[in-house]
Amino acid sequence: MTGSRLTLSRRSERIAKADIRTMTVECERVGGVNLAQGVCDMEVPIEVRRAAQEAIESGVKLLYEARRAGPPARGHRWEDAGFNGITADPETEVVVSGGATGGLYCACMAILDPGDEVVVFEPFYGYHVNTLLAVDAVPRYVRLRPPDWSFDPTDLEKVIGPRTKALLLCTPANPSGKVFSKEELASLAALAVRHDLFVLSDEIYEYFLYDGRKHVSPGALHAIADRTVTVSGYSKTFSITGWRVGYCVANRRWAAMIGYVSDLVYVCAPSPLQMGVAEGILRLDDSYYAGLQAAFTRKRDVISRALRQAGFTFADPAGAYYILADASHLPGSSGRDRAMRLLEATGVAAVPGGAFYADGGGDDLLRFCYAKEDEVLEEACSRLLRGA
Ligand code: PMP
Repeated sequence: MTGSRLTLSRRSERIAKADIRTMTVECERVGGVNLAQGVCDMEVPIEVRRAAQEAIESGVKLLYEARRAGPPARGHRWEDAGFNGITADPETEVVVSGGATGGLYCACMAILDPGDEVVVFEPFYGYHVNTLLAVDAVPRYVRLRPPDWSFDPTDLEKVIGPRTKALLLCTPANPSGKVFSKEELASLAALAVRHDLFVLSDEIYEYFLYDGRKHVSPGALHAIADRTVTVSGYSKTFSITGWRVGYCVANRRWAAMIGYVSDLVYVCAPSPLQMGVAEGILRLDDSYYAGLQAAFTRKRDVISRALRQAGFTFADPAGAYYILADASHLPGSSGRDRAMRLLEATGVAAVPGGAFYADGGGDDLLRFCYAKEDEVLEEACSRLLRGA
């Protein structure tokens, strides 16, 4: 008799679990400060909270938000490149889904077949790779080189083959903090056209930019507008990670199927919470986003100073809210050894760099998240300096 049929799928085995939660558990064990997990501790804007509450109180909005383009889709002015330079019809080309995570999954389900290859920049965000694996696609990696996280275009050409179907971008990027420059995006756009590839673009950190940088959406580049699926959401921007409201924007040729998959998996993002997000988009003006940038620039500068004094080396992140630092001054042969050593010596938890690389790599790196309340960051800084 052969083995039992009661086994997990082979796919399940491929979907590796990240070290991020492990470090959180270790951190709780020693009562440390957790800079491993990326949780935004800013206050949810009152406009967003109030509109969600009103939607619940009113009772009438609690229907399935059956139309793909839920309220947040109509919050932006998508016509005439009104938002991020992207032109789209909110009714047929914007899909509101279960966060950016859900949006990306639905997009992958809609456009990728098993065995299709997708180019991913390394270090990567673990969910990106696991989402690809979940749909039986094959990630092909191109390394970004620290400290500025630049890439060699010849490395890109080397991984592109007959099965390559898409290029996955994350700008601003988790975990590197890289913001792809206009020139880099233009060269990637040319490559996507040359090899006839989709571009999947995760822009969840679009408002977390530093030192006067402006967000450039790949989907705004004319040459690739029709082949780009833009994925974003409000988890970070409005500090509502658990609300699960995000969206995809894509040409209607792709958006219809992305919307259908989203309907199949989620039906809809929670409708009262969509109302809250829509109100936030409509009511919050530039001063809100400028305030967010100022607050996070301060946080970045505070933690960077302490990390440098504690012996870490890195370039200041250009966007998002992570520092992926060289930790080779800490003893150990792997990122995990170094993360554990740091936790024991200082009580500060970071993510081992290996979590962001496929097969080896990242052993010298640790990722610190600074989306934390100021007091928590201050505590982390003094611990880092005491333990240095
Ligand atoms: N994309 C990236 C690059 C992220 O870092 C995160 C959060 N860690 C997400 C998406 C999650 O976004 P959402 O909550 O909208 O699913």
